[in-house]
Amino acid sequence: MRGIGVSPGIAIGKAVIHWKEQIDILREYVDEPERELRRFRTALEFAGEQIRESYSRVLQNVGPNEAAIFEAHGLMLQDPDFTGRIERLILDESANAEWAVKQVADNLVQIFENMDNDYMKARSDDVRDISERVIKLLLQAGGADFTQLQEKAILVTRDFTASDMSQLQRELTLGVASEVGGKTSHAAIIARTMRIPSVMGAHGLLNTVGNGDLLILDGETGEIFVNPDEETLARYREKQERYECFLGRLSEIRGKETVTLDGVKVELGANVGSSRDLDEVLKNDGEAVGLYRTEFLYLESPMLPTEDEQFEAYKSVVAGMGGRPVVIRTLDIGGDKKLDYLSIPEEENPFLGYRAIRLCLDRQEIFKVQLRAILRSSAFGKVRILFPMISCLEELRAAKAILEDTKKDLRQRKIPFDESVQAGIMVEVPSTAILSDHFAKESDFFSIGTNDLIQYTVAVDRGNDKLAPLYSSYHPAVLRLVKTVIDNGNHAGIHVGMCGESAGDPKLIPILLGMGLTEFSMSPPSILQARWILRSLRKSDLEEAARHALSLGTAAEVETYCGTLLQSLDLCR
Ligand code: PEP
Ligand code: MG
Repeated sequence: MRGIGVSPGIAIGKAVIHWKEQIDILREYVDEPERELRRFRTALEFAGEQIRESYSRVLQNVGPNEAAIFEAHGLMLQDPDFTGRIERLILDESANAEWAVKQVADNLVQIFENMDNDYMKARSDDVRDISERVIKLLLQAGGADFTQLQEKAILVTRDFTASDMSQLQRELTLGVASEVGGKTSHAAIIARTMRIPSVMGAHGLLNTVGNGDLLILDGETGEIFVNPDEETLARYREKQERYECFLGRLSEIRGKETVTLDGVKVELGANVGSSRDLDEVLKNDGEAVGLYRTEFLYLESPMLPTEDEQFEAYKSVVAGMGGRPVVIRTLDIGGDKKLDYLSIPEEENPFLGYRAIRLCLDRQEIFKVQLRAILRSSAFGKVRILFPMISCLEELRAAKAILEDTKKDLRQRKIPFDESVQAGIMVEVPSTAILSDHFAKESDFFSIGTNDLIQYTVAVDRGNDKLAPLYSSYHPAVLRLVKTVIDNGNHAGIHVGMCGESAGDPKLIPILLGMGLTEFSMSPPSILQARWILRSLRKSDLEEAARHALSLGTAAEVETYCGTLLQSLDLCR
């Protein structure tokens, strides 16, 4: 079976199913609701203590970003709206406490999941997480508790929460697999940081796997084998050995240059969503911030962030990078990222609609505030301004004109900014990729956004999991567009980078290099791995490989070819 590989690596071992998959929470009528209420409040107190402990442990062992999740949990546990609803169910309806907690939590999860705002959607993980903690305390549940393993195991459950992940015994946890979840869930983020091979979103997992079954998980491809035959086992043991050898050597690469065997210098940047991600960028040797997605600042705010709030956020990243480039992307809202406080009418096709630069050119008062904040931050380091979702030259010209007006205004008010600040575009719409020769004359740099370029090229909504097999980063049509953009950018002598997920894909890195790409930006934990791969490559050898990949007709052929190419590299040399 196959789920979504969310944290790379191979895990081979016995399955242990979590206690919560083995119990049913039934509705009971209690004789003494007051007593039940006390039972609930005691569990709440214990849960608060556990959360405080988790906070300190995660702060020490993982990092401040992950620990912040527990700060949020602590606050939610004290939220009178949440606890009040549970208490009313216990008192007014004589409900047993565990059932009341589950009712209220399920209801909240549903509300959050139906919201269009990704940030709010992610809050459903937090509700699940704290309610399970309280229920477990109420039930004093036994069974397989992932924090009390006796031997090494692969952990299986319906849904991993951030708490589950951070409480795992790292040395005994070979891997984790769940039915629910995807790459961007909190649990997946922690799994990657802890480097635990993980597969999520594996539908039907609990119907297929039993306690004690032998499992193989491939955290990269998302494959799961249940009680595999000897031949499969041998194949994956070998793959595991290669991967572990590779990981063991990764740390040696910190502080080294990203340069190929034939001397081509490559820049490896990081994608960030907030100034809180800076620690990870520095820990993983990010050479630049290749993409700062500023929309998260807007999504986390109850109203439009002020110029000063934005300035502080941008400045902390720019100054924190100590003179290395920081590419700040202007507001990319719309599509799957909605700002409720802007009251934008519903659209039939939001990804093809009022999104990103289209909204900013229409709501110029919002755009100008952001440009002023970005320009002011440019006085503290090396900023580049990136316009998202440009689909025609007129949009680029209009955006640049507003940028020039904003600069003029700052000059008049004697507010310092970097006069040489560059303005570039995301190339993520096919029309722009095709016309990239024209865009290269009016743009200081290109950043190729494969996440959107794929969806617009193959006409597949990037968030629709029913169509996931059609949404392929290996589609030769996408790669041909990428090649066109690289060639046109290089020919005009401007920077060409890639910040879509493809940039961090080990299978694509060799052919992207062969196509002439020399700036890659990815999530921080992928950086050292990319550096390792690049240092094992010879660009001149890969030009022919890239030409071959571009001559193929299907995504499957390209993926197989790229996979074979990567395997042929001796990464453990
Ligand atoms: C992209 O589209 O590739 C990209 C990097 O931007 P986002 O994922 O934020 O749309
Ligand atoms: Mg995009």
